Amino acid sequence: MTKVSDITQYIESLAPLSLQESYDNAGLITGDSEQMVSGVLICLDVTTEILDEAIQLNCNFILAHHPIIFKGLKKITGKHYVERIIIKAIKHDIAIYACHTNLDNVSDGVNRKLAEVIGLESPWILSPKPHQLCKLTTFIPEEHTEEVLDALHQAGAGEVGNYKGCSFKLKGQGTFTPNELANPHIGQKNMREEVTEDRIEVIFPVWQQKQVMLALRNTHPYEEIAYYLHSLENENQLSGSGMIGKLNAPMDEPAFIEHLKEKLELKIVRHTAFTSKKIQTVALCGGSGSFLIGAAIANQADAFVTADVKYHDFFEADGKLLLADVGHYESERFTKDLFYKFLSENFSNIALHLSMVNTNPIFYT
Ligand SMILES: [Zn+2]
Repeated sequence: MTKVSDITQYIESLAPLSLQESYDNAGLITGDSEQMVSGVLICLDVTTEILDEAIQLNCNFILAHHPIIFKGLKKITGKHYVERIIIKAIKHDIAIYACHTNLDNVSDGVNRKLAEVIGLESPWILSPKPHQLCKLTTFIPEEHTEEVLDALHQAGAGEVGNYKGCSFKLKGQGTFTPNELANPHIGQKNMREEVTEDRIEVIFPVWQQKQVMLALRNTHPYEEIAYYLHSLENENQLSGSGMIGKLNAPMDEPAFIEHLKEKLELKIVRHTAFTSKKIQTVALCGGSGSFLIGAAIANQADAFVTADVKYHDFFEADGKLLLADVGHYESERFTKDLFYKFLSENFSNIALHLSMVNTNPIFYT
């Protein structure tokens, strides 16, 4: 049997909530985390039609990209569409869970999926987030180093880009004197002790701090563990906004726009003037990505594909790249497939449904 919390914890291990933007409201929005899950409906937005679909399919868990509640609700009377959706979800015991900007900010998230659909090779994060890495330095009696280090690596420490098990080790002498109340692993009360210890350094993402410190406490033999935790200025290559990568061959601009239309199934693309440059390096950001126009230019992208571009933002492209607005829904539509992949890999015992409802509120006539 699968509980709501089994699914939410798994999703949060892939897209940690701490990576969501400050304005966001990702996480469990309605529902009891202890409730058993009868089925999961995967969608981008929660609407009344989506709730009807969930009820009809016997799904009491809705996994959505956009949170239905962004701001605080002071009254829930059904006057506003958000209130009506919340009332209906609660009446039907439906858990609504949103995985939003936390999924935008991981390497295997919304933007990698979009890059894959557009056909970019080995894309990387366009604007990595600072302050997402910690360094742990600890001192371990040498005969225990391997065991502690293994546990730290198991807990996710020492993963840097495409490398696992990264650490640094230096041998030295540690000293200590246990007092009357101590229960020392090595040495005796009130006697100064000198022990050959390894100084170990590992780095890890901030959201793994709990697991890493737990692994240290569970395996380090000392009663009082000597360690330092440092927050690093280094950028984490695996978390941040947007992605950038290369098409396997350059295209001219009209052909690139046609390529976008075909791959993303678009009727229309809003874009800046053609400059007769070839397009090969492409930056992208699913959803509202205008804040990354500068980063796309700085990284010498030939084109930047995003959505919700305002009139004045188009001027920012300044002839330096082709700026293409493909539509918000259209740029995130494939996120449903990503959710499906995440869940089907880990939960074979629950029914997963991709919503058949098109929740795009924008029509082109
Ligand atoms: Zn969005």
